Amino acid sequence: MKTKSEFLRKAAVKAGDKTHRAKILKAITTYTGKVEGMKSAQYYDWQQARSFAEQTKNYVLRHLPDLLEQFERNITTNGAQVLWAEDAAEAREHIRRIFRERKVRKVVKSKSMTTEEIEVNELLEGEGIEVLESDLGELIVQLAGEKPYHIVTPAMHKSRQDIAALFHEKLGVPASSSAEELTMAARGHLRSAYVTADAGITGANFLLAEGAIVMTENEGNGRLTMSCPPVHVVIAGIEKILPAMENLALFLPLLTTSGTGQQITCYNSVVRGPRAAGEQDGPQEMIVILLDNGRSAMYAEPEFQHALRCIRCGACLNACPVYRTVGGHAYGTTYQGPIGSVITPHMRGMAQFSHLSSASSLCGACTQVCPVQIDLHHLLLKNRAKATEEKRGVDLWQVGFAGWAKVMTSRKRLEGVRRLAVAGEASLRVILPHALRKRLPVPAKKSFARQWQEGAEH
Ligand code: SF4
Repeated sequence: MKTKSEFLRKAAVKAGDKTHRAKILKAITTYTGKVEGMKSAQYYDWQQARSFAEQTKNYVLRHLPDLLEQFERNITTNGAQVLWAEDAAEAREHIRRIFRERKVRKVVKSKSMTTEEIEVNELLEGEGIEVLESDLGELIVQLAGEKPYHIVTPAMHKSRQDIAALFHEKLGVPASSSAEELTMAARGHLRSAYVTADAGITGANFLLAEGAIVMTENEGNGRLTMSCPPVHVVIAGIEKILPAMENLALFLPLLTTSGTGQQITCYNSVVRGPRAAGEQDGPQEMIVILLDNGRSAMYAEPEFQHALRCIRCGACLNACPVYRTVGGHAYGTTYQGPIGSVITPHMRGMAQFSHLSSASSLCGACTQVCPVQIDLHHLLLKNRAKATEEKRGVDLWQVGFAGWAKVMTSRKRLEGVRRLAVAGEASLRVILPHALRKRLPVPAKKSFARQWQEGAEH
């Protein structure tokens, strides 16, 4: 229950923080304008694009085991190695072993939520390995000692002034630096790391069953991370698979339209394996870790399987009034907002995270914006039902409702409660503090049935 009380405590603090709310409102208003503009500029029929994407992802789910095996076979033929990780512990063990065997002391890393999910930075720091985040947003939160605030824009909660103050303290740049100067400072900080790192770690936006990983990005850091160091480790969730290259024609623009309001990101890399004989650059080794970590359990439940269609665009977070009010850090999870509240209880346990399904107004804004048409708000309702069935969410609220149901389904019990309320009202008004006294309802002196009867008699 600690996760629930922590969530409630942090949410209450952030909800009352007007400066925080103003920053998020500004960021999301800019985002929404760009996304809506791009949807109408880039698509004749946005709804049809969503339907095609949903159908493709449903095909993927129906053939998931086969497609993953095809991926393994094909990318292995290209010289890469594939490892499977059932959970975070196994993935971490693979990484520990790979880096120990190769005596890795320095790692450069690009933005990847799967590495956050299995806490790669904490693992490597524990091993005495230096880790440098190469994505600007990730670098900002790393320097600030924080976790990503958002799955697409990790430093959304920081203004330029916040970042300038942080870079002034950590990198020694003038506190008055402009956005361009701050970007150049980050670039200067990272440039040499690409060529001095012993390994690069990336995620993957998509895996192609024909044997490739696909990464989209805007800074070129991902491409440098995967191509400069001698070892490239990819950590990707098993749901990232797509059948073939031709599917990217739909999914790349769909992801960027919903994620950042761009037609397409600046850099799109399709990597089929490590450096081949005769090639000038690229890593000597490429190792892909396919991460399950609760995804198979979700796959096995037909009602929740569709959450695996998610392409991590972040649109549902931006649309969610709860996320916009309490912010990303309140959730205490890798994946925040509506999709995080749907999948985290399945990935990390209903007992600890079922409360997140109540962090929703059920307004349906998340479902409306999702580019792969995941019925998010109904999945949140299903999570609530599941938590109740598993008796994980037993609390005063539920006990109260059970008692209310008992009373309201029996006229005799209802009348007994009314009499008790009439008898106890005067004493309660003396005992209760003023604020509660004002809210105390006045019980009816006579039951409705009695009043009806008396009315009829007159
Ligand atoms: S659930 Fe849909 S809207 Fe939310 S991150 Fe995933 S794909 Fe995007």
